[in-house]
Amino acid sequence: MIPFDFEYCKPATVGEALKTFRDLQAAGKRVCYYGGGTEFISLARLGSVTTAAVIDLKGIPECLTLSENDQHVLIGAAASLTQIAEYRAYPLLSDHCRRIADHTSRNRITIGGNLAGVIEYREAVLPLLVSDAQVVVARGEGMETVSIHDIFKGTLLIGAGEFIIQLLVPRSEANLPYVSLKKTRHSKVDYPLVSIAASKKDGRIRLAVSGVCRYPFRYPPLEDEVNAANRSPLERAERAAARLPEPAVNDAFGSRDYRLFLLRHAIADTIRQLEGA
Ligand SMILES: Cc1cc2nc3c(=O)[nH]c(=O)nc-3n(C[C@H](O)[C@H](O)[C@H](O)COP(=O)(O)OP(=O)(O)OC[C@H]3O[C@@H](n4cnc5c(N)ncnc54)[C@H](O)[C@@H]3O)c2cc1C
Repeated sequence: MIPFDFEYCKPATVGEALKTFRDLQAAGKRVCYYGGGTEFISLARLGSVTTAAVIDLKGIPECLTLSENDQHVLIGAAASLTQIAEYRAYPLLSDHCRRIADHTSRNRITIGGNLAGVIEYREAVLPLLVSDAQVVVARGEGMETVSIHDIFKGTLLIGAGEFIIQLLVPRSEANLPYVSLKKTRHSKVDYPLVSIAASKKDGRIRLAVSGVCRYPFRYPPLEDEVNAANRSPLERAERAAARLPEPAVNDAFGSRDYRLFLLRHAIADTIRQLEGA
């Protein structure tokens, strides 16, 4: 049970959502946006989150879209991971979303919630980093489009009252050869010790990682080692795993050495698959 009362708002437009947030805040109320609600409800039950109002983004058509135009595949931020897994316009994202959580949770978890939530893995961001996606953000009185690399640096950098409307994946990136790979401690349905999304374009492998450090990343020095010529896949993987943006995590789920062992082999497998070795 959630041990406090709160207002539930379900605006039908981006403008209405932004105004609802401003009005509630001006009335001195604590507000938060609501996607699938899985994280909000868990934290609220534990008493780790309290709020006077939630604004459900699932009433806004732009946040629910799964469509394509001439330039982009458009992924609504309130689309569930199951819907994205079934929508195959960007297969790397579909396959990677299919590996997050269990089926029942994926029916509710939204991609916006995965990117914005407190659980640090944020695996759905990996295919977006690899494809140099754009993010449409509700900001000020309207919308702004920004590069994923500017708005996501380990965590989502958006201000109070702002929310993600859509993710735009360039169509030129959507159907490249790819690898989606996840190593967990126990079952397929678990948090990742290593999660990799990679694609290959113009002979170069692009690769993003979660589970190894405290945040997901795509890191150019690591990617350069992956693409170094005249070395075997395992040599390249060993050198790449030594070029992390910060030391690997060492915790009860997996030791640092074990994570690095898995990472080296996962990178080598990724190289072999993308280079057809
Ligand atoms: C059983 C289970 C297993 C999981 N396993 C994994 C896993 O393997 N890998 C992984 O990466 N994650 C995993 N997660 C984490 C999950 O992806 C996050 O908890 C995510 O936040 C849940 O999404 P939601 O839509 O339900 O979020 P909500 O509870 O609706 O919201 C979470 C936070 O995101 C904010 N938010 C939601 N939508 C938006 C938006 N469009 N714009 C801005 N802010 C927004 C909310 O304000 C809130 O702060 C798991 C979660 C569960 C419950």
